[in-house]
Amino acid sequence: MLSLDNVEIVYEDVILACKGVSLAVPSDGIIALLGSNGAGKTSTLRAITGLLDTHRGRIATGTIRLEDREITRATPADVVASGIAQVMEGRRVLVDFTVEENLRVGGHTQPRSGIPQSLDRIYTMFPLLADRRRDRAGYLSGGEQQMLAIGRALMARPRYLLLDEPSLGLAPRIVEQIRDLIVRINQSGTGVLLVEQNAAMALSIATHGYVMENGRIVMDGSAATLRDDANIQEFYLGLG
Ligand code: ATP
Repeated sequence: MLSLDNVEIVYEDVILACKGVSLAVPSDGIIALLGSNGAGKTSTLRAITGLLDTHRGRIATGTIRLEDREITRATPADVVASGIAQVMEGRRVLVDFTVEENLRVGGHTQPRSGIPQSLDRIYTMFPLLADRRRDRAGYLSGGEQQMLAIGRALMARPRYLLLDEPSLGLAPRIVEQIRDLIVRINQSGTGVLLVEQNAAMALSIATHGYVMENGRIVMDGSAATLRDDANIQEFYLGLG
């Protein structure tokens, strides 16, 4: 289990982005974190991965735990080494590097001897990356770059994968592929924390969901409960 208990996040010592966030990601779950722009979702991910520093933010109070270990304020390298990998919003692949070079970057925390096996695993999971392994990442389509970003994160062999808006800007057919991929990653034994504005997609695969507004979790429940909720239908699923 990866868990946050009452985490408060401040930027530049004044802007309170998260006002006591508690949530849990079981190792076999897909947890959706929903909320509108500026709700604090990305800040929550940064708190887990140790990336607040680089944005002049910090965890003011609260704790983050991975299994029986406290990882509050751990460095990004420690977080990856402890089994958590993140796919950041906007994909961020290295456009001048080949597909395979990008994947190797993702595996740099692993022993070198394990890299060929990890590459094989990723190429089996993503045949299109295998076909394009020698192409520059910048030549891939948006959907392919997102797959590469996910594949790169998986090279670290994480037990938990954090995804920030993986469907953003992608065509519906590609969003479906990404969704199926997330399910497969979860089935292969990886807990997933899925930040999404596409609530319909997230709730179609999540086991549990949290809704964030203005730095607080305002609702949580099973994905089925959230899908049936009138407010969620109106504000997040466009069914109102
Ligand atoms: P989005 O979907 O737009 O990324 P979000 O739910 O992920 O939204 P955050 O990006 O976590 O929300 O932002 C939460 C709050 O923290 C917002 O009010 C935002 O303006 C503020 N914030 C985020 N990053 C910084 C920063 N580096 N410096 C100051 N304030 C920040």
